[in-house]
Amino acid sequence: MTKIINCHIHTFTTRHTPRYFPFKAAVAFRYAPFLLRWVRNAMRWHTSAHSYLLRLEAFHDTGRRPTQREVLREALHYYPRDAKFVVLPLDMEPIGHGPVEIGIRGQHDELHRLTQDGVYGPRVIPFASVHPATPGAAAEFRRCVETLGFRGLKVYPKLGYAPDHPLLMEEIYPLCVERGLPVISHCSRGGIYRKGWDQRRRDEVSGPEAWIPVMEAHPELRVCLAHFGGDADWRSYINDGFDPDDPDARRKNWVWQINDMICRGDFPNLWTDISYTIFKFDEYAPLLRIFLQERKLGERVLFGSDFYMTRQERLSEKAISIRLRDTLGDDHFRQIAETNPRVFLALPPIDAEENAAVA
Ligand SMILES: [Zn+2]
Repeated sequence: MTKIINCHIHTFTTRHTPRYFPFKAAVAFRYAPFLLRWVRNAMRWHTSAHSYLLRLEAFHDTGRRPTQREVLREALHYYPRDAKFVVLPLDMEPIGHGPVEIGIRGQHDELHRLTQDGVYGPRVIPFASVHPATPGAAAEFRRCVETLGFRGLKVYPKLGYAPDHPLLMEEIYPLCVERGLPVISHCSRGGIYRKGWDQRRRDEVSGPEAWIPVMEAHPELRVCLAHFGGDADWRSYINDGFDPDDPDARRKNWVWQINDMICRGDFPNLWTDISYTIFKFDEYAPLLRIFLQERKLGERVLFGSDFYMTRQERLSEKAISIRLRDTLGDDHFRQIAETNPRVFLALPPIDAEENAAVA
């Protein structure tokens, strides 16, 4: 049986997100959840809008849980008892959408307490979030790593910085390399972003090529570009194809870029995860299955889901892992859900860990 490691989930709650996020009126849903229910009821005649609002409500209900432990407990419903989870916090304070109730330090502290939990602690692999605009960001990352035992770094450039921001290049990445810690970065055209940043600016810092200077300066750093380029680029890869008269057409597609950068072999420590993107299962799973047959790529793809962002989607976490296993077959499923995550996270081989537990 595959011992699943889900390399990408979130447990932060509404108290960690800015008050006016993603737009000013959203504050209403935060303090008066019945409004969303009311809108949904009023839309009952419109089947697809109604089901979307139902999912949006489920998403808000998860976010409104009082603690990260409660959010994690919800994710656990969908996985075997020995599954583990990389939990990615997010510093959303300096992104221009108003104040947060609990800052990043508090979010990290609560996640650390969760790792100490007698029941759920062993299931959690905590990462630390860095936003270079937060005062003391480097010291906070060092505290997470050295004092709290966090196991990796989460960055989200379109929240307002480039991946080669000097603070990251000079202080954060060197510490990751020194300690053998991996990085996960948001890599899709969707998602949240720094207030006022247009699509061009967001894409500039999120795309695979934005990481080239980072990987050139820190070749040992393991970098995972999350979401495998994201929904829009998967859709266009499959549905639009590439203009035969445009020599750069392929290069503009992030799925193509990630494949190319991994398979070319120039960046042996470049990884990707299939979180969120794979929730459009029927559309994308066949292509993923083909990609995984390329050995180099197959060794660099990680299973992740992006819980609880995915509560906005139709399929449950459990439906996704069952379908993945069914479509990819046991061997490829084990590769992306167990073997590859252990390499990426620098965990000991599974037998050694089990023997240590017995001894
Ligand atoms: Zn995510």
